[in-house]
Amino acid sequence: MIKKTLIALGLCLSFSSFSTLEEGMFPLSELHRVDLEKAGLKLPLKSIYNPEGTSLVQALVRVGGCTGSFVSNEGLIITNHHCAFGAVAAASDPEHDYITEGFMAKERSKEIPTSIKARITASYEDVSAQVLNGLNAISDPAARSMKLDANIEQLVKDEQAKHPDLLIEVSEMLQGKSYTLFRYQELKDIRLVYVPQRSIGEFGGESDNWVWPRHTGDFSFMRAYVGKDGQPAEYAEDNIPYTPKEFLKINPNGVKENDFVFILGYPGRTYRNQPAQFLEYQNTYQMPYISQWFDFQIEQMQELGREDKALEIAFASRIKRLANTTKNYKGKMQGLQRTSVIADRKKDDEGLMAMVNNDPALKNEYGTVFQEIDQIYQEKLATAQRDLWLGQVFSSSGLFFSAGYVANRQEAYKDVKKADRDNFIAMEFVNRAATLKRNGSIAHPELEKRLIKALLYYGATLPEGQRPASLEAFSKESDIKESIDAFVEKNYAKSLFSNTEKYTEMLEKSPAKLMKVKDPFMEIAGDLWTQLMKYQDAEKKRQDALTILLPKMIDIRQMYQKSTFLPDANSTLRFTYGYIRGYSPADAEVHNPFTHVKGILEKASNSGDYYLEEYIQKLLESADPMSIVCFLYNLDTTGGNSGSPIMDDKGQLVGVNFDRAYTATINDFAWNEEYSRSIGVDIRYVLLIVKELGKGDHLLKEMGV
Ligand code: ASP
Repeated sequence: MIKKTLIALGLCLSFSSFSTLEEGMFPLSELHRVDLEKAGLKLPLKSIYNPEGTSLVQALVRVGGCTGSFVSNEGLIITNHHCAFGAVAAASDPEHDYITEGFMAKERSKEIPTSIKARITASYEDVSAQVLNGLNAISDPAARSMKLDANIEQLVKDEQAKHPDLLIEVSEMLQGKSYTLFRYQELKDIRLVYVPQRSIGEFGGESDNWVWPRHTGDFSFMRAYVGKDGQPAEYAEDNIPYTPKEFLKINPNGVKENDFVFILGYPGRTYRNQPAQFLEYQNTYQMPYISQWFDFQIEQMQELGREDKALEIAFASRIKRLANTTKNYKGKMQGLQRTSVIADRKKDDEGLMAMVNNDPALKNEYGTVFQEIDQIYQEKLATAQRDLWLGQVFSSSGLFFSAGYVANRQEAYKDVKKADRDNFIAMEFVNRAATLKRNGSIAHPELEKRLIKALLYYGATLPEGQRPASLEAFSKESDIKESIDAFVEKNYAKSLFSNTEKYTEMLEKSPAKLMKVKDPFMEIAGDLWTQLMKYQDAEKKRQDALTILLPKMIDIRQMYQKSTFLPDANSTLRFTYGYIRGYSPADAEVHNPFTHVKGILEKASNSGDYYLEEYIQKLLESADPMSIVCFLYNLDTTGGNSGSPIMDDKGQLVGVNFDRAYTATINDFAWNEEYSRSIGVDIRYVLLIVKELGKGDHLLKEMGV
């Protein structure tokens, strides 16, 4: 384990949860901290980011929650197969099963519109002073948070007025300390160009997800379109492809072991600057509960989908999303158990506390910071089991969402004066109809019933003190499960909220009637809604308090980590670099950094996760068995980096990032070269598949290959 030992004030502190300079999702503003030339980059720094001219950053695009890059001057984007999956599922039906069969637009007019939006980072600016302006004078945490939000809102508004054509966002880089304003160019018409067959794009399925060795062709192509005036349009009827300021050249020769590579991308979220208690909360409550609940949902959907192709397609995206999270969480839990990440973070915190206590000036300013953080977490942990479950009740069940919302609004309606009633209905129902419909939608009645039964059972068997009053009656039954199942069976069909059509009609045509509706699920759903609101209020108070405490904790840490301290990932543009490199994740296990076509054929089967159609097998049999498929590198990536271009020392595209190894999933909490490896699909495999399977010579030509 990498350790950085510091001698401070006579105390020996080991900051093992932080690391050497190799760690790093560098914001563009921090690029100067690395000697990239020494590391192996053969380009001037300016060609990566240049506010005065063109640079690689302009070839980067955030597509939905993923990253992509332009690979032609006609708006062609390469990203992951799994980033296009939702759009492919939405475009599919049993007659046009693009998920299974893949999709290649032979001509531009056949490219399929999606609801994906994309953005390009145009410029950025440090706005910490403006965001924090006036905050010091406010001691109440809630008032401070409000002021901070108001400052941000004002800044965004002012900047938006100056640049009406751009999207303005202020991102928190270090909580309560550092803020950056980003200006983005938005692209609103993104269409599917090429998606390989699922057996290629998702080869290995969930068995291989978050796993090395890997043989997945996790890539796809999309195209950005703009309106006649060159401005982004929802659906650009004139079919004018966007001309990016920069696009990536492809290096068809790829890379070899130990070569320098770098990634630009939009990593989503990491938690490296959080206290030890945060990790404990994740490890003891959040990850075990969510992974078992998601597993349960997946099992139900798979079972129902097995008999019904349309259902299988309808559930495909949700299953994939839940499965991705649950396996990631299991990887993290295993990682936390095998490493000393939590113990190290505790030790670090204790070391810092001791240091503070030994210095009167520091003690005065920071003396109670760690205790106060601890108190907040103790409070949170006391009802964590119930609170996590409450959150899932309304996000997993459309019926419960609608019943809870209506019950809660009926309560509020009682206090609304006659003259204000129409306004109340308009605000709470008419204006929110689209969201209410979406959150209340029911994917399938049998699935919904199974989820409700399981959710109620969990609630009724919560420990005393956390159990909601409305579920007490069930918990007193001799067979809790049986009584809950009977209750759901008896009442499901009677509920207005299980009948989406009827509920939607009421919502749209006579919303006032909802104020009189009586429903068998409303008593429980209303009670749980109230509990959830109470929890959210308490959580907001805790977060507000942490907004003051965590910056202080970061202050203390920063005093000892001046050169290596980096902000956590927050979906803003980052740079990371490293080398093509294998590793040894466990005793006697050694991994090489490249996989080959021969490995696909070894794994291939005629069913399950390694299913490969016979004609694809034949095609791959005719390729060189040692053709590279995927590769491994010691860069610092996380979710959101999916689809990021992997570039060589000259900035040419050599692969597309799509995953991390199982042991690397804990790098969200602490990065370490020993266990962190990311996985990309090699550009050589992409080109092979596009040409031989996709018959996409026109795309190769467009990319200049
Ligand atoms: N495959 C990953 C994801 O879906 C990418 C990563 O987290 O490294 O989020």
